[in-house]
Amino acid sequence: MKSIKFKTLFFVLCLLAFLFIFQWYFINYFLKGALEKQLINFMANIGQSVTGEIDTRHLQVFEGFDTTVTYSRLKERLEHYLEDFNIDNISIIDTNKKVVIDLKSGLKNGDDFGYLDLNEIQFNALKSGVIKRSSLYKNVYGKYTENVYIPVFTPKRECAGILILSASARFLNSIEDFRKNILWLYISLIVLSLGLGFLLSSSFAQPVINLSKIVDRIGGGDYRSPIPYRKRNDELGHLARKITEMMRKIELRDLFMRKISAGIAHEIRNPLTAIKGNLMLIKRKSNGKEIGEMIDDNLKQVDALEELVADFMNFAKPVTLDMKHIRIGEVLGYALKETEILRGQKEVELFYECPDDALIEGDMNYLKRALVNLIRNAAEAVPVGGMIEITCRSADGKLTLYIKDYGAGIDPEDADRIFEPFFTTKTTGTGLGLSIVKEIMEKHGGSIDFESVKGEYTRFRIEMPLARRDYA
Ligand code: ADP
Ligand code: MG
Repeated sequence: MKSIKFKTLFFVLCLLAFLFIFQWYFINYFLKGALEKQLINFMANIGQSVTGEIDTRHLQVFEGFDTTVTYSRLKERLEHYLEDFNIDNISIIDTNKKVVIDLKSGLKNGDDFGYLDLNEIQFNALKSGVIKRSSLYKNVYGKYTENVYIPVFTPKRECAGILILSASARFLNSIEDFRKNILWLYISLIVLSLGLGFLLSSSFAQPVINLSKIVDRIGGGDYRSPIPYRKRNDELGHLARKITEMMRKIELRDLFMRKISAGIAHEIRNPLTAIKGNLMLIKRKSNGKEIGEMIDDNLKQVDALEELVADFMNFAKPVTLDMKHIRIGEVLGYALKETEILRGQKEVELFYECPDDALIEGDMNYLKRALVNLIRNAAEAVPVGGMIEITCRSADGKLTLYIKDYGAGIDPEDADRIFEPFFTTKTTGTGLGLSIVKEIMEKHGGSIDFESVKGEYTRFRIEMPLARRDYA
């Protein structure tokens, strides 16, 4: 029943997750790519102006070069660039990848330059004039860094060496920070939206859940519960008003049906009593055996009609209880007596085990009627010579009574409907028996349910509060 709430929350969370993934993608691929390109262009521009000012004759590799004036001039010039453009390192190597000069990473003239991540083809392309770049790497300080390689040419356009500019991709570090921040932002958003989701679900989902509970109760015959939310002027309000309208209509139809039932039952009962009286009179006066049997047969049918009329009358009358202390054995005794003929006809075997003195509080007539209806159904369900078991338990202030028959069983498809008035699977049934039982049990503060296996057995269980002993 909570699913609508969870769906709302789930939806909000999905939306957040989607936004999150989208942003992540945007930052990583789109923004990062664009900024990286800018950095490379910037460095390539610087690189070209630097190479333009370098006298290629000064790019030499030999022992002691770094003690010459040429070397210190070159170094001085490069250091200017380093400061002016906020670059992290500048190095120059010759075409054999030997270091000519390196400002920051501690390499000396003549050292092998180990950081070059270009294969021979790329290196050759570089030497012929194509500017290359390294992939991003984290430098020794843990900062994202990128190198740009720019060939340095002699006036005769021969490659004299490679200028290497290293710049930390500061924007990437700030993207990293930004990502951390955004993660926090999302965590707080998730918390916030969970709260929001709960709010949403309590203002929309909860009313729907409440209304559906009320509709369930209306289905069970409760037309009195007030229906909330009728004053809301949204769809929920509309729904609540429609349910109210529907409830009134069902109540009216229910009343109408009870009235008709009462009317018809009343009209039939009196002539039926007369017919029965006359039949008995005729039977007494005639002495032919054949006529006697015919009259008996008619009397049985009149009895069946009387049962039917009784069902209609009971259905039509509102149940008003006359509460007394009743021993369960006593009321069961009456009910068994009343169903004796029917059970006799089918040679039903009875297993009976009830503590007769268990005391309940109730209306003898109504309780008897309820039990008669249940035993009647059981006797109708079993085959000739079938078995009915009636057992009782009393515990925790409750009496539980089982009426079990080894008969036809109840189709799972019908299970939801058997307590509805007029639902019957019998050709001569009224379908009122169980609906009356249910009403009587509920009026007694009890309950009724059943379990059944088609073709094997049906067991009805009724539960009622035991009478408080101190009353007895
Ligand atoms: P009716 O007996 O007039 O059909 P009830 O309200 O007493 O009406 O029962 C409704 C339906 O429930 C029956 O038609 C039958 O299908 C089913 N039913 C009730 N009791 C039993 C039972 N003991 N075994 C099998 N089916 C039953
Ligand atoms: Mg019945």
